[in-house]
Amino acid sequence: MITAALPPGIDELAVWSVPMRTRFRGIDVRDGVLVRGPGGWGEFSPFWDYDAAESRRWWAAAAEAAAGDWPPPVRDTVPVNVTVPAVDAERAHAIVSASGCRTAKVKVAEPGQTAADDLARVEAVRDALGPDGAVRVDANAAWDVDTAVVRIGQLDRVGLEYVEQPCAGLAELAALRRRVDVRVAADEVVRRAADPLAVDLREACDVVVLKVQPLGGVRAALRVAEAHGLPCVVSSALESSVGIAAGVALAAALPELPFACGLATVALLAQDVSSAPLLPVDGALPVRAVAPDRRAAVAADDDVTARWTGRLAAVLAA
Ligand SMILES: [Mg+2]
Repeated sequence: MITAALPPGIDELAVWSVPMRTRFRGIDVRDGVLVRGPGGWGEFSPFWDYDAAESRRWWAAAAEAAAGDWPPPVRDTVPVNVTVPAVDAERAHAIVSASGCRTAKVKVAEPGQTAADDLARVEAVRDALGPDGAVRVDANAAWDVDTAVVRIGQLDRVGLEYVEQPCAGLAELAALRRRVDVRVAADEVVRRAADPLAVDLREACDVVVLKVQPLGGVRAALRVAEAHGLPCVVSSALESSVGIAAGVALAAALPELPFACGLATVALLAQDVSSAPLLPVDGALPVRAVAPDRRAAVAADDDVTARWTGRLAAVLAA
């Protein structure tokens, strides 16, 4: 059994696996490990394209949560955006209308889709939100600078709050930023950096996206926020409600929180590990702990469990 491989300070491991409602970030199934320690539950769920070395920060986040070592909150709710996958316009409208959120983050530049697909989706989202809502898009580093200038110009017809990681590198983001009026948010360029504290973002972005697991925990992410001195948005890594609770703890601890956070992503999973999932009410999430009381219902099969326990052992040894 997996109890043979318990890391120090951990008294239970539970491997979970659930289908996505819609393919997102190229994945159809989300899985990970929940770990229990003296301070509560943590989540270790690096995507499968992260190697052992890069996954060490993800483990640090899980261990921090299990130790109960989060900073105190300065607010008791966190405003969140609804996240719209690369679906058709009609579905995008329905997702936003059902969410109760006043801000929407829309995936664009999905492989195999066109500029017209993106524009139709973003226009449907604007229609669903009305003129007072905020629309942001995330291109996941898909565009070169010239393409980004054209696409952002088209999509900004609806009025964009910001565009997240339109291009891959720091130099490209800086070049783009000199050519468009829309704010640029940095995500991959921070969280996949060898040292997220040391990335020079001064010319490259207006907003920093913080994700707890890729940055190594709530306290580590707060240090990233402090180092860059830019407005921050906390987003998820498509965690279960246990991992989302860590993102909420980070958003609750940030001194300033000028934008809605990307933490309303449990709705993208077909099931959750908790019978009280962290889903938004009136566009906000409450700041609270989450008990994964549905572990049996979402338990991974033996093969997936073995894959995760092997992966965790490799990360701990890295
Ligand atoms: Mg992103």
